[in-house]
Amino acid sequence: MEFDKIRIENLEIYAYHGVFPDENEKGQKFFLNAILYTHTRKAGKSDDLTLSTNYGEVCEFMNTYVTGRVCKLLETVAEGLAEAVLLKFPHVAKLLLEIRKPDAPIAIPFESVSVQIERGWHTAYIAFGSNMGNRDKYIEEAIRKIKEHALCNATQVSSILRTEPYGGQAEGEFLNGVLEMKTLLPPEELLEVLNQIEAEAGRERTVHWGSRTLDLDILLYDEEVISTPKLTIPHIDMENRDFVLEPLCEIAPFIRHPITHKTIKQILDELKATQETYAIK
Ligand code: AMP
Repeated sequence: MEFDKIRIENLEIYAYHGVFPDENEKGQKFFLNAILYTHTRKAGKSDDLTLSTNYGEVCEFMNTYVTGRVCKLLETVAEGLAEAVLLKFPHVAKLLLEIRKPDAPIAIPFESVSVQIERGWHTAYIAFGSNMGNRDKYIEEAIRKIKEHALCNATQVSSILRTEPYGGQAEGEFLNGVLEMKTLLPPEELLEVLNQIEAEAGRERTVHWGSRTLDLDILLYDEEVISTPKLTIPHIDMENRDFVLEPLCEIAPFIRHPITHKTIKQILDELKATQETYAIK
């Protein structure tokens, strides 16, 4: 769905950011432009401010943030401020933020310099599995750690399935499931967080598809398609794994695979129709 926009233009803030000591001592004017991407329909139909975002509060909040610290870089101010606004104002899904510095120390005449960034909440689906040791505890702990992460917010967790090992390398029944999260982390940073949680569960990467105390995979991240040496999104083999599709279908049957554009329910139904053996017990 298209977003509505709330716009803040040239909010003037006196602050002390800059690479040069002189800038940190004397300070200068900064101008902020922001577009808050949100849905205003409910507030528009009810005339109720609590259903929208109070732009006055956003301006006060930005002023307090920008005057409350001294950074060398505009990039740092912008990054921290965008994150803080997204965490503070729940109706803001995405934010375009520009910080201008018209009196930056540049010897050649110029009008203004600025840094502009766009940041927002993303939706990711994570598959989790365990077939070694105290499996329930590893999974419970992983979900708790994801829920407690400041930049992640678990929104749905599927039931947990008992399944046969996949790929012929592991021994012992797996527990599998999927969770949905909203996150401010980009995919590579999300993977680092998940790898850290796996490591804390004593996970050792030895045999591909082997036994593991905890496995966390990113299945989907918005509608993104990513192929790098570290990361393949959508997850490479998700269409062939009933133990992934079944719990994913439980929490998100109608989202679409960004390459085939089929719904998860469709993909699962097709797998069920062609697959002879079914891993789920
Ligand atoms: P595995 O042993 O199957 O858990 O593989 C883990 C490794 O696969 C990670 O270190 C990642 O670099 C890589 N990988 C590639 N794509 C993904 C993905 N979508 N989610 C998690 N790991 C991935």
